[in-house]
Amino acid sequence: EAAPETRSFEADVAKLLHLMVHSVYSDKDVFLRELISNAADACEKLRYEALSDASLLGDDGQPRITVTLDPEGRRLTIADNGIGMTEAELGDALGTIARSGTKAFMDRIAGAKESEDSHLIGQFGVGFYSAFMVADRVDVVSRRAGTDTAASWSSDGLGTYTIQPADLADAPARGTRVLLHLKEDAATYTDAGMVERTIKTQSGHVPVPIVLADTPDAEPRQIADGAALWTRPKSDITPEDYKDFYRSAAGQFDDPALTLHYRAEGRHEYTVLAFVPETKPFDLFDPDREGRMKLYVRRVFITDEAQILPRYLRFVRGLVDSNDLPLNVSREMIQESPVLAAIQKAVANRVLSELDKLATGDTERYLAIWDNFGPVLKEGLYEDYARRETLLGLARFKTTASGGAWRSLQDYAGALKENQTAIYYATGTDLDRLATSPQLEGFRARGIEVLLLADQVDSFWVTSGLDFGGKPFKSVTQGLADLSLIPLVEGETPATDASEAVNGFIAFVKETLGDAVSDVRASDRLTTSAVCLVASEHGMDRQLEKLLAGSGR
Ligand code: ADP
Ligand code: MG
Repeated sequence: EAAPETRSFEADVAKLLHLMVHSVYSDKDVFLRELISNAADACEKLRYEALSDASLLGDDGQPRITVTLDPEGRRLTIADNGIGMTEAELGDALGTIARSGTKAFMDRIAGAKESEDSHLIGQFGVGFYSAFMVADRVDVVSRRAGTDTAASWSSDGLGTYTIQPADLADAPARGTRVLLHLKEDAATYTDAGMVERTIKTQSGHVPVPIVLADTPDAEPRQIADGAALWTRPKSDITPEDYKDFYRSAAGQFDDPALTLHYRAEGRHEYTVLAFVPETKPFDLFDPDREGRMKLYVRRVFITDEAQILPRYLRFVRGLVDSNDLPLNVSREMIQESPVLAAIQKAVANRVLSELDKLATGDTERYLAIWDNFGPVLKEGLYEDYARRETLLGLARFKTTASGGAWRSLQDYAGALKENQTAIYYATGTDLDRLATSPQLEGFRARGIEVLLLADQVDSFWVTSGLDFGGKPFKSVTQGLADLSLIPLVEGETPATDASEAVNGFIAFVKETLGDAVSDVRASDRLTTSAVCLVASEHGMDRQLEKLLAGSGR
Protein backbone atom coordinates (compact mmCIF):
# COMPACT_ATOMS: atom_id res chain seq x y z
CA GLU A 1 0.00 0.00 0.00
CA ALA A 2 1.23 3.50 -0.87
CA ALA A 3 2.41 5.74 1.99
CA PRO A 4 0.01 8.56 2.80
CA GLU A 5 0.88 11.89 1.29
CA THR A 6 1.68 14.58 3.88
CA ARG A 7 0.80 18.15 3.03
CA SER A 8 1.06 21.47 4.81
CA PHE A 9 -1.98 23.58 5.50
CA GLU A 10 -2.37 26.87 3.71
CA ALA A 11 -0.84 29.61 5.91
CA ASP A 12 -4.20 31.02 6.95
CA VAL A 13 -5.50 27.59 7.95
CA ALA A 14 -2.40 26.96 10.05
CA LYS A 15 -3.00 30.25 11.83
CA LEU A 16 -6.65 29.43 12.38
CA LEU A 17 -5.80 25.95 13.65
CA HIS A 18 -3.25 27.31 16.07
CA LEU A 19 -6.05 29.41 17.47
CA MET A 20 -8.43 26.46 17.71
CA VAL A 21 -5.90 24.17 19.32
CA HIS A 22 -5.00 26.78 21.93
CA SER A 23 -8.46 28.18 22.23
CA VAL A 24 -9.67 29.25 25.62
CA TYR A 25 -13.13 29.77 24.16
CA SER A 26 -15.48 28.30 26.72
CA ASP A 27 -18.40 27.51 24.44
CA LYS A 28 -16.74 24.63 22.63
CA ASP A 29 -20.15 23.07 21.85
CA VAL A 30 -20.20 24.99 18.60
CA PHE A 31 -17.99 22.37 16.94
CA LEU A 32 -21.00 20.00 17.01
CA ARG A 33 -23.12 22.55 15.27
CA GLU A 34 -20.49 23.17 12.60
CA LEU A 35 -19.95 19.50 11.82
CA ILE A 36 -23.68 18.74 11.78
CA SER A 37 -24.32 21.68 9.52
CA ASN A 38 -21.68 20.37 7.09
CA ALA A 39 -23.31 16.93 7.19
CA ALA A 40 -26.73 18.45 6.52
CA ASP A 41 -25.34 20.57 3.66
CA ALA A 42 -23.88 17.39 2.14
CA CYS A 43 -27.27 15.65 2.33
CA GLU A 44 -28.99 18.62 0.73
CA LYS A 45 -26.43 18.74 -2.08
CA LEU A 46 -27.08 15.08 -2.79
CA ARG A 47 -30.85 15.60 -2.71
CA TYR A 48 -30.40 18.30 -5.35
CA GLU A 49 -28.04 16.31 -7.59
CA ALA A 50 -30.34 13.31 -7.37
CA LEU A 51 -33.09 15.34 -9.02
CA SER A 52 -31.29 14.91 -12.31
CA ASP A 53 -29.61 11.58 -11.53
CA ALA A 54 -31.67 9.38 -9.24
CA SER A 55 -29.09 6.58 -9.45
CA LEU A 56 -26.86 8.58 -7.06
CA LEU A 57 -29.16 7.55 -4.24
CA GLY A 58 -28.73 3.81 -4.90
CA ASP A 59 -30.95 1.92 -2.50
CA ASP A 60 -30.57 4.48 0.29
CA GLY A 61 -32.88 7.40 -0.44
CA GLN A 62 -33.33 8.56 3.14
CA PRO A 63 -30.83 11.25 4.20
CA ARG A 64 -29.47 10.81 7.71
CA ILE A 65 -26.83 12.13 10.09
CA THR A 66 -25.49 9.59 12.56
CA VAL A 67 -23.65 10.64 15.70
CA THR A 68 -21.86 7.84 17.52
CA LEU A 69 -20.28 8.14 20.96
CA ASP A 70 -17.48 5.97 22.27
CA PRO A 71 -16.90 6.80 25.95
CA GLU A 72 -14.28 4.07 26.38
CA GLY A 73 -12.19 5.14 23.42
CA ARG A 74 -12.99 8.86 24.11
CA ARG A 75 -14.14 9.32 20.54
CA LEU A 76 -17.05 10.91 18.74
CA THR A 77 -18.09 10.25 15.13
CA ILE A 78 -20.38 12.27 12.89
CA ALA A 79 -21.37 10.46 9.72
CA ASP A 80 -23.66 11.44 6.88
CA ASN A 81 -24.92 9.67 3.77
CA GLY A 82 -24.74 12.86 1.71
CA ILE A 83 -22.79 13.82 -1.37
CA GLY A 84 -19.32 12.85 -0.06
CA MET A 85 -15.96 14.05 -1.37
CA THR A 86 -13.43 12.67 -3.81
CA GLU A 87 -9.77 12.65 -2.81
CA ALA A 88 -9.20 15.91 -4.69
CA GLU A 89 -12.25 17.55 -3.10
CA LEU A 90 -11.10 16.46 0.35
CA GLY A 91 -7.75 18.15 -0.16
CA ASP A 92 -9.38 21.33 -1.43
CA ALA A 93 -12.04 21.51 1.25
CA LEU A 94 -9.94 20.64 4.29
CA GLY A 95 -6.63 22.32 3.55
CA THR A 96 -7.65 25.79 2.51
CA ILE A 97 -10.05 28.46 3.64
CA ALA A 98 -12.86 28.91 1.19
CA ARG A 99 -15.69 30.44 3.09
CA SER A 100 -15.88 34.19 3.18
CA GLY A 101 -17.00 34.22 6.81
CA THR A 102 -13.77 32.53 7.86
CA LYS A 103 -11.74 34.94 5.76
CA ALA A 104 -13.47 37.86 7.47
CA PHE A 105 -12.70 36.22 10.79
CA MET A 106 -9.00 35.99 9.94
CA ASP A 107 -8.96 39.65 8.96
CA ARG A 108 -10.54 40.55 12.23
CA ILE A 109 -8.20 38.62 14.47
CA ALA A 110 -5.22 40.05 12.61
CA GLY A 111 -6.09 43.35 14.27
CA ALA A 112 -7.43 41.97 17.55
CA LYS A 113 -5.70 41.44 20.86
CA GLU A 114 -5.07 37.82 21.83
CA SER A 115 -7.63 38.17 24.61
CA GLU A 116 -10.37 39.02 22.12
CA ASP A 117 -9.76 36.01 19.88
CA SER A 118 -11.94 33.59 21.76
CA HIS A 119 -14.76 36.07 21.86
CA LEU A 120 -14.51 36.44 18.10
CA ILE A 121 -14.61 32.69 17.50
CA GLY A 122 -18.01 32.73 19.15
CA GLN A 123 -19.25 35.39 16.80
CA PHE A 124 -18.07 33.79 13.60
CA GLY A 125 -18.36 30.04 13.66
CA VAL A 126 -15.31 28.88 11.84
CA GLY A 127 -16.55 25.70 10.26
CA PHE A 128 -14.81 22.35 10.13
CA TYR A 129 -11.63 23.52 11.84
CA SER A 130 -13.52 24.16 15.08
CA ALA A 131 -13.22 20.37 15.62
CA PHE A 132 -9.69 21.04 16.83
CA MET A 133 -11.00 22.88 19.86
CA VAL A 134 -11.98 19.51 21.31
CA ALA A 135 -9.95 16.94 19.36
CA ASP A 136 -6.23 16.29 19.15
CA ARG A 137 -6.70 14.22 16.01
CA VAL A 138 -9.42 14.23 13.37
CA ASP A 139 -9.85 11.45 10.79
CA VAL A 140 -12.15 11.94 7.84
CA VAL A 141 -13.17 9.19 5.42
CA SER A 142 -15.36 10.01 2.47
CA ARG A 143 -16.90 8.42 -0.57
CA ARG A 144 -18.48 10.58 -3.22
CA ALA A 145 -21.97 9.50 -4.33
CA GLY A 146 -21.84 7.58 -7.59
CA THR A 147 -18.13 6.65 -7.32
CA ASP A 148 -16.45 3.48 -6.16
CA THR A 149 -13.35 4.98 -4.64
CA ALA A 150 -12.90 6.46 -1.19
CA ALA A 151 -10.31 8.71 0.41
CA SER A 152 -9.16 9.53 3.90
CA TRP A 153 -7.76 12.64 5.54
CA SER A 154 -6.14 12.92 8.91
CA SER A 155 -4.55 15.66 10.99
CA ASP A 156 -3.55 16.62 14.50
CA GLY A 157 -4.12 20.26 13.59
CA LEU A 158 -0.45 21.14 14.11
CA GLY A 159 0.50 22.23 10.62
CA THR A 160 0.19 19.22 8.34
CA TYR A 161 -2.37 16.67 7.25
CA THR A 162 -2.21 13.41 5.36
CA ILE A 163 -4.43 12.32 2.53
CA GLN A 164 -4.67 8.95 0.80
CA PRO A 165 -7.01 6.57 -0.95
CA ALA A 166 -9.05 4.46 1.47
CA ASP A 167 -10.38 0.92 1.35
CA LEU A 168 -14.05 0.84 0.41
CA ALA A 169 -14.53 -1.58 3.29
CA ASP A 170 -13.37 1.10 5.75
CA ALA A 171 -15.43 3.88 4.17
CA PRO A 172 -19.12 4.71 4.47
CA ALA A 173 -21.25 3.30 1.62
CA ARG A 174 -21.79 6.92 0.67
CA GLY A 175 -20.96 10.25 2.25
CA THR A 176 -18.54 11.31 4.94
CA ARG A 177 -17.48 10.13 8.36
CA VAL A 178 -15.65 12.50 10.68
CA LEU A 179 -13.96 10.84 13.65
CA LEU A 180 -12.80 13.02 16.53
CA HIS A 181 -10.21 11.74 18.99
CA LEU A 182 -11.25 13.91 21.91
CA LYS A 183 -8.80 15.73 24.12
CA GLU A 184 -8.72 14.65 27.74
CA ASP A 185 -10.66 17.70 28.89
CA ALA A 186 -13.33 17.16 26.22
CA ALA A 187 -14.43 13.72 27.42
CA THR A 188 -17.86 15.15 28.26
CA TYR A 189 -18.66 14.93 24.54
CA THR A 190 -19.07 11.21 24.95
CA ASP A 191 -21.84 11.74 27.48
CA ALA A 192 -25.09 10.82 25.71
CA GLY A 193 -27.38 13.11 27.70
CA MET A 194 -25.12 16.10 27.25
CA VAL A 195 -24.58 15.53 23.53
CA GLU A 196 -28.28 14.94 22.90
CA ARG A 197 -29.25 18.18 24.66
CA THR A 198 -26.61 20.16 22.81
CA ILE A 199 -27.59 18.82 19.40
CA LYS A 200 -31.28 19.37 20.03
CA THR A 201 -30.81 23.01 20.96
CA GLN A 202 -28.16 23.88 18.39
CA SER A 203 -29.18 21.73 15.46
CA GLY A 204 -32.67 20.47 16.21
CA HIS A 205 -34.03 22.13 13.09
CA VAL A 206 -31.59 21.07 10.41
CA PRO A 207 -33.58 19.66 7.50
CA VAL A 208 -32.07 16.17 7.86
CA PRO A 209 -32.95 13.65 10.61
CA ILE A 210 -30.26 13.06 13.25
CA VAL A 211 -29.78 9.76 15.08
CA LEU A 212 -27.55 9.18 18.10
CA ALA A 213 -25.82 5.96 19.21
CA ASP A 214 -24.70 6.10 22.84
CA THR A 215 -21.91 3.58 22.21
CA PRO A 216 -20.49 1.98 19.06
CA ASP A 217 -22.65 -1.10 19.70
CA ALA A 218 -25.84 0.67 20.72
CA GLU A 219 -28.86 0.93 18.46
CA PRO A 220 -29.07 4.55 17.19
CA ARG A 221 -32.17 6.47 18.21
CA GLN A 222 -33.63 9.52 16.50
CA ILE A 223 -33.08 12.81 18.32
CA ALA A 224 -34.17 15.27 15.60
CA ASP A 225 -36.75 14.55 12.91
CA GLY A 226 -35.43 16.70 10.05
CA ALA A 227 -38.86 18.21 9.44
CA ALA A 228 -38.63 21.61 7.81
CA LEU A 229 -39.57 24.15 10.46
CA TRP A 230 -41.03 26.58 7.95
CA THR A 231 -43.70 24.10 6.82
CA ARG A 232 -45.19 23.96 10.32
CA PRO A 233 -48.02 26.32 11.29
CA LYS A 234 -46.81 29.46 13.05
CA SER A 235 -48.91 28.68 16.08
CA ASP A 236 -46.84 25.52 16.71
CA ILE A 237 -43.51 27.33 16.64
CA THR A 238 -42.00 28.98 19.71
CA PRO A 239 -39.62 31.96 19.61
CA GLU A 240 -36.98 29.54 20.90
CA ASP A 241 -37.57 27.29 17.83
CA TYR A 242 -37.16 30.25 15.51
CA LYS A 243 -34.00 31.34 17.25
CA ASP A 244 -32.41 27.88 17.04
CA PHE A 245 -33.36 27.57 13.42
CA TYR A 246 -31.99 31.02 12.64
CA ARG A 247 -28.70 30.25 14.32
CA SER A 248 -28.16 26.93 12.59
CA ALA A 249 -29.51 27.97 9.19
CA ALA A 250 -27.83 31.36 9.03
CA GLY A 251 -24.66 30.38 10.88
CA GLN A 252 -25.23 33.29 13.23
CA PHE A 253 -24.60 33.44 16.94
CA ASP A 254 -26.94 36.27 17.84
CA ASP A 255 -30.72 36.49 18.12
CA PRO A 256 -33.00 37.57 15.29
CA ALA A 257 -34.05 41.23 15.61
CA LEU A 258 -37.00 40.56 13.34
CA THR A 259 -38.58 37.26 12.28
CA LEU A 260 -40.83 37.08 9.26
CA HIS A 261 -42.70 33.84 8.53
CA TYR A 262 -45.58 33.69 6.11
CA ARG A 263 -47.16 31.71 3.34
CA ALA A 264 -48.05 33.41 0.09
CA GLU A 265 -51.05 32.06 -1.73
CA GLY A 266 -52.68 33.09 -4.97
CA ARG A 267 -50.83 33.35 -8.26
CA HIS A 268 -47.71 31.85 -6.73
CA GLU A 269 -47.48 29.68 -3.69
CA TYR A 270 -44.44 29.86 -1.49
CA THR A 271 -43.36 30.09 2.10
CA VAL A 272 -40.96 32.69 3.44
CA LEU A 273 -38.97 32.43 6.64
CA ALA A 274 -36.63 35.40 7.00
CA PHE A 275 -34.67 37.03 9.78
CA VAL A 276 -32.98 40.35 10.34
CA PRO A 277 -29.94 39.72 12.56
CA GLU A 278 -29.42 41.56 15.80
CA THR A 279 -25.74 42.25 15.07
CA LYS A 280 -23.80 43.20 11.98
CA PRO A 281 -22.28 40.30 10.04
CA PHE A 282 -18.60 41.09 9.60
CA ASP A 283 -18.59 40.78 5.84
CA LEU A 284 -21.47 43.23 5.42
CA PHE A 285 -19.36 45.60 3.35
CA ASP A 286 -17.32 42.97 1.55
CA PRO A 287 -17.65 43.98 -2.12
CA ASP A 288 -18.46 40.37 -3.00
CA ARG A 289 -21.12 40.07 -0.39
CA GLU A 290 -24.42 39.05 -1.91
CA GLY A 291 -27.71 38.13 -0.32
CA ARG A 292 -27.83 34.70 1.26
CA MET A 293 -31.52 33.89 1.14
CA LYS A 294 -31.84 30.23 0.27
CA LEU A 295 -34.17 28.98 -2.41
CA TYR A 296 -35.98 25.70 -1.85
CA VAL A 297 -38.45 24.06 -4.18
CA ARG A 298 -40.90 21.82 -2.34
CA ARG A 299 -38.41 21.44 0.50
CA VAL A 300 -35.44 20.59 -1.72
CA PHE A 301 -32.60 23.05 -1.33
CA ILE A 302 -31.75 24.50 -4.75
CA THR A 303 -29.34 27.40 -4.30
CA ASP A 304 -28.37 30.33 -2.12
CA GLU A 305 -27.39 32.33 -5.17
CA ALA A 306 -30.84 33.11 -6.52
CA GLN A 307 -30.53 36.79 -5.43
CA ILE A 308 -33.98 36.63 -3.92
CA LEU A 309 -33.50 39.99 -2.28
CA PRO A 310 -31.79 43.08 -3.74
CA ARG A 311 -28.20 43.71 -2.63
CA TYR A 312 -29.16 46.41 -0.17
CA LEU A 313 -31.15 43.81 1.79
CA ARG A 314 -28.18 41.45 1.96
CA PHE A 315 -28.28 41.42 5.77
CA VAL A 316 -31.58 39.50 5.73
CA ARG A 317 -31.11 35.75 6.27
CA GLY A 318 -33.56 32.96 5.61
CA LEU A 319 -35.27 31.10 2.82
CA VAL A 320 -38.07 30.90 0.32
CA ASP A 321 -39.67 27.54 -0.41
CA SER A 322 -41.63 27.59 -3.64
CA ASN A 323 -44.41 25.21 -4.58
CA ASP A 324 -44.59 26.07 -8.24
CA LEU A 325 -41.05 26.38 -9.54
CA PRO A 326 -40.14 23.29 -11.55
CA LEU A 327 -37.89 20.89 -9.66
CA ASN A 328 -36.28 19.19 -12.58
CA VAL A 329 -34.60 22.12 -14.27
CA SER A 330 -31.14 23.50 -13.75
CA ARG A 331 -30.27 26.29 -11.31
CA GLU A 332 -29.54 28.52 -14.28
CA MET A 333 -33.00 28.01 -15.76
CA ILE A 334 -34.61 28.70 -12.41
CA GLN A 335 -32.72 31.99 -12.23
CA GLU A 336 -34.43 33.08 -15.43
CA SER A 337 -37.89 31.96 -14.45
CA PRO A 338 -40.63 34.62 -14.35
CA VAL A 339 -41.95 32.85 -11.25
CA LEU A 340 -38.68 33.60 -9.46
CA ALA A 341 -38.86 37.22 -10.65
CA ALA A 342 -42.34 37.55 -9.17
CA ILE A 343 -41.17 36.01 -5.90
CA GLN A 344 -38.15 38.33 -5.74
CA LYS A 345 -40.32 41.36 -6.17
CA ALA A 346 -42.97 40.32 -3.67
CA VAL A 347 -40.52 39.22 -0.97
CA ALA A 348 -38.50 42.44 -1.18
CA ASN A 349 -41.71 44.47 -0.90
CA ARG A 350 -42.82 42.42 2.06
CA VAL A 351 -39.51 42.82 3.90
CA LEU A 352 -39.65 46.60 3.41
CA SER A 353 -43.27 46.82 4.52
CA GLU A 354 -42.46 44.80 7.66
CA LEU A 355 -39.62 47.21 8.43
CA ASP A 356 -42.01 50.08 7.88
CA LYS A 357 -44.54 48.51 10.24
CA LEU A 358 -41.84 48.11 12.86
CA ALA A 359 -40.71 51.71 12.37
CA THR A 360 -44.09 53.00 13.52
CA GLY A 361 -45.14 50.13 15.78
CA ASP A 362 -41.95 49.50 17.75
CA THR A 363 -39.62 52.42 17.19
CA GLU A 364 -36.93 51.23 19.56
CA ARG A 365 -36.53 47.88 17.84
CA TYR A 366 -36.61 49.55 14.47
CA LEU A 367 -33.89 52.04 15.37
CA ALA A 368 -31.66 49.21 16.56
CA ILE A 369 -32.01 47.66 13.10
CA TRP A 370 -31.40 51.01 11.41
CA ASP A 371 -28.32 51.56 13.52
CA ASN A 372 -26.82 48.32 12.17
CA PHE A 373 -28.11 48.24 8.63
CA GLY A 374 -29.04 51.81 7.71
CA PRO A 375 -25.83 52.30 5.72
CA VAL A 376 -26.73 49.20 3.66
CA LEU A 377 -30.38 50.13 3.19
CA LYS A 378 -29.31 53.55 1.93
CA GLU A 379 -27.57 51.85 -1.03
CA GLY A 380 -31.11 51.18 -2.22
CA LEU A 381 -31.74 54.91 -2.58
CA TYR A 382 -29.68 54.93 -5.76
CA GLU A 383 -29.79 51.26 -6.71
CA ASP A 384 -33.54 50.74 -6.54
CA TYR A 385 -35.21 53.73 -8.07
CA ALA A 386 -38.66 52.13 -7.98
CA ARG A 387 -38.59 51.78 -4.20
CA ARG A 388 -36.89 55.08 -3.37
CA GLU A 389 -40.01 56.56 -1.76
CA THR A 390 -40.33 53.60 0.57
CA LEU A 391 -36.64 53.71 1.38
CA LEU A 392 -36.66 57.46 2.04
CA GLY A 393 -39.55 56.79 4.39
CA LEU A 394 -37.49 54.18 6.23
CA ALA A 395 -34.36 56.33 6.41
CA ARG A 396 -33.34 57.91 9.71
CA PHE A 397 -30.79 60.68 10.21
CA LYS A 398 -28.73 62.40 12.83
CA THR A 399 -29.27 66.14 12.38
CA THR A 400 -28.25 69.45 13.88
CA ALA A 401 -31.58 69.43 15.70
CA SER A 402 -31.73 65.82 16.83
CA GLY A 403 -29.27 65.93 19.71
CA GLY A 404 -27.77 62.58 18.71
CA ALA A 405 -31.15 60.87 18.16
CA TRP A 406 -32.55 59.62 14.86
CA ARG A 407 -34.95 61.77 12.83
CA SER A 408 -37.07 60.78 9.85
CA LEU A 409 -37.51 62.98 6.81
CA GLN A 410 -41.11 63.31 7.89
CA ASP A 411 -39.84 64.85 11.12
CA TYR A 412 -37.54 67.12 9.11
CA ALA A 413 -40.34 68.22 6.80
CA GLY A 414 -42.43 69.13 9.82
CA ALA A 415 -39.73 71.54 11.01
CA LEU A 416 -39.11 73.45 7.77
CA LYS A 417 -38.47 77.18 8.17
CA GLU A 418 -40.43 79.89 6.42
CA ASN A 419 -39.26 80.12 2.77
CA GLN A 420 -37.06 77.01 3.10
CA THR A 421 -37.02 75.30 -0.31
CA ALA A 422 -34.53 72.49 0.19
CA ILE A 423 -33.49 69.76 2.58
CA TYR A 424 -29.96 70.68 3.64
CA TYR A 425 -27.26 68.17 4.42
CA ALA A 426 -23.58 68.13 5.30
CA THR A 427 -21.40 65.14 4.42
CA GLY A 428 -18.21 64.06 6.13
CA THR A 429 -16.64 61.13 7.87
CA ASP A 430 -17.11 62.11 11.47
CA LEU A 431 -20.41 63.15 13.03
CA ASP A 432 -18.91 65.29 15.79
CA ARG A 433 -16.68 67.14 13.39
CA LEU A 434 -19.63 67.67 11.06
CA ALA A 435 -21.80 69.04 13.81
CA THR A 436 -19.28 71.78 14.61
CA SER A 437 -18.39 72.61 11.03
CA PRO A 438 -18.28 76.36 10.21
CA GLN A 439 -20.33 75.53 7.10
CA LEU A 440 -23.35 75.23 9.37
CA GLU A 441 -23.19 78.61 11.08
CA GLY A 442 -25.53 80.43 8.74
CA PHE A 443 -28.01 77.57 8.97
CA ARG A 444 -27.86 77.48 12.72
CA ALA A 445 -28.39 81.25 12.91
CA ARG A 446 -31.64 80.71 11.03
CA GLY A 447 -32.68 77.62 12.97
CA ILE A 448 -32.52 75.52 9.82
CA GLU A 449 -32.08 71.80 10.48
CA VAL A 450 -29.22 70.12 8.60
CA LEU A 451 -28.85 66.37 8.04
CA LEU A 452 -25.45 65.17 9.19
CA LEU A 453 -24.34 62.43 6.83
CA ALA A 454 -21.26 60.48 7.85
CA ASP A 455 -21.62 57.17 5.98
CA GLN A 456 -19.66 56.52 2.77
CA VAL A 457 -22.85 55.69 0.92
CA ASP A 458 -24.30 59.13 1.67
CA SER A 459 -22.14 60.93 -0.84
CA PHE A 460 -23.63 58.76 -3.55
CA TRP A 461 -27.34 58.89 -2.92
CA VAL A 462 -27.52 62.60 -2.16
CA THR A 463 -26.20 63.37 -5.62
CA SER A 464 -28.64 61.06 -7.38
CA GLY A 465 -31.37 63.69 -7.78
CA LEU A 466 -33.78 62.54 -5.10
CA ASP A 467 -36.32 64.77 -3.45
CA PHE A 468 -38.62 64.38 -0.49
CA GLY A 469 -42.06 65.94 -0.57
CA GLY A 470 -40.99 68.08 -3.53
CA LYS A 471 -37.94 69.45 -1.71
CA PRO A 472 -34.55 68.65 -3.27
CA PHE A 473 -31.57 67.60 -1.15
CA LYS A 474 -28.96 70.33 -1.13
CA SER A 475 -25.44 70.33 0.28
CA VAL A 476 -24.44 73.11 2.65
CA THR A 477 -20.99 73.08 1.09
CA GLN A 478 -22.21 73.45 -2.43
CA GLY A 479 -22.15 77.00 -3.76
CA LEU A 480 -23.98 79.79 -1.98
CA ALA A 481 -26.95 78.42 -0.20
CA ASP A 482 -29.64 80.97 -0.62
CA LEU A 483 -30.28 81.79 2.99
CA SER A 484 -31.09 85.46 2.70
CA LEU A 485 -34.84 84.84 2.38
CA ILE A 486 -34.96 82.87 5.59
CA PRO A 487 -35.23 85.00 8.70
CA LEU A 488 -32.60 84.86 11.43
CA VAL A 489 -33.42 83.40 14.79
CA GLU A 490 -33.91 86.17 17.33
CA GLY A 491 -30.67 87.31 18.93
CA GLU A 492 -28.43 86.20 16.04
CA THR A 493 -26.42 88.88 14.28
CA PRO A 494 -26.83 89.15 10.53
CA ALA A 495 -23.78 88.70 8.36
CA THR A 496 -23.09 92.25 7.20
CA ASP A 497 -23.27 93.25 3.58
CA ALA A 498 -20.01 93.21 1.74
CA SER A 499 -18.69 96.69 2.34
CA GLU A 500 -15.96 98.49 0.47
CA ALA A 501 -13.43 97.17 2.97
CA VAL A 502 -14.59 93.59 2.50
CA ASN A 503 -14.46 93.90 -1.27
CA GLY A 504 -10.92 95.18 -1.03
CA PHE A 505 -9.99 92.26 1.16
CA ILE A 506 -11.61 89.78 -1.26
CA ALA A 507 -9.61 91.19 -4.14
CA PHE A 508 -6.45 90.74 -2.09
CA VAL A 509 -7.27 87.11 -1.23
CA LYS A 510 -8.10 86.29 -4.85
CA GLU A 511 -4.82 87.69 -6.02
CA THR A 512 -2.86 85.87 -3.34
CA LEU A 513 -4.47 82.47 -3.89
CA GLY A 514 -4.58 82.74 -7.67
CA ASP A 515 -5.54 79.48 -9.41
CA ALA A 516 -5.88 77.59 -6.15
CA VAL A 517 -9.49 78.76 -5.85
CA SER A 518 -12.12 79.44 -8.47
CA ASP A 519 -13.77 82.29 -6.58
CA VAL A 520 -13.77 84.20 -3.29
CA ARG A 521 -17.05 85.63 -2.02
CA ALA A 522 -18.68 87.24 0.97
CA SER A 523 -21.24 84.80 2.35
CA ASP A 524 -24.39 84.55 4.49
CA ARG A 525 -23.38 81.21 5.80
CA LEU A 526 -20.81 82.32 8.35
CA THR A 527 -21.55 84.03 11.62
CA THR A 528 -18.56 83.56 13.90
CA SER A 529 -15.88 81.94 11.70
CA ALA A 530 -13.92 84.13 9.31
CA VAL A 531 -13.73 81.83 6.29
CA CYS A 532 -14.77 78.41 5.02
CA LEU A 533 -14.13 76.36 1.90
CA VAL A 534 -17.04 75.44 -0.34
CA ALA A 535 -17.39 73.58 -3.61
CA SER A 536 -18.80 75.42 -6.57
CA GLU A 537 -22.56 75.28 -7.17
CA HIS A 538 -22.33 72.90 -10.09
CA GLY A 539 -19.15 71.09 -9.15
CA MET A 540 -18.87 67.90 -7.21
CA ASP A 541 -19.82 67.66 -3.59
CA ARG A 542 -16.63 68.03 -1.52
CA GLN A 543 -17.01 64.74 0.32
CA LEU A 544 -17.64 62.86 -2.91
CA GLU A 545 -14.65 64.58 -4.46
CA LYS A 546 -12.47 63.37 -1.57
CA LEU A 547 -13.84 59.85 -1.82
CA LEU A 548 -13.21 59.61 -5.53
CA ALA A 549 -9.74 61.09 -5.16
CA GLY A 550 -9.04 58.51 -2.45
CA SER A 551 -10.24 55.60 -4.56
CA GLY A 552 -7.95 56.66 -7.39
CA ARG A 553 -10.78 57.13 -9.87
P1 ADP B 1 -18.39 25.79 4.95
O1 ADP B 1 -19.31 24.70 5.46
O2 ADP B 1 -18.86 27.13 5.34
O3 ADP B 1 -18.10 25.70 3.48
P2 ADP B 1 -16.48 24.36 6.52
O4 ADP B 1 -15.13 24.70 7.07
O5 ADP B 1 -17.49 23.95 7.52
O6 ADP B 1 -16.97 25.60 5.69
O7 ADP B 1 -16.31 23.19 5.48
C1 ADP B 1 -15.42 23.35 4.39
C2 ADP B 1 -15.83 22.50 3.22
O8 ADP B 1 -15.56 21.11 3.49
C3 ADP B 1 -17.28 22.52 2.85
O9 ADP B 1 -17.60 23.63 2.03
C4 ADP B 1 -17.45 21.20 2.11
O10 ADP B 1 -17.05 21.36 0.77
C5 ADP B 1 -16.48 20.31 2.80
N1 ADP B 1 -17.14 19.44 3.77
C6 ADP B 1 -17.04 19.53 5.11
N2 ADP B 1 -17.76 18.58 5.71
C7 ADP B 1 -18.35 17.86 4.72
C8 ADP B 1 -19.22 16.73 4.68
N3 ADP B 1 -19.68 16.14 5.80
N4 ADP B 1 -19.59 16.26 3.47
C9 ADP B 1 -19.15 16.83 2.33
N5 ADP B 1 -18.33 17.90 2.30
C10 ADP B 1 -17.93 18.41 3.48
MG1 MG C 1 -19.63 24.40 7.46
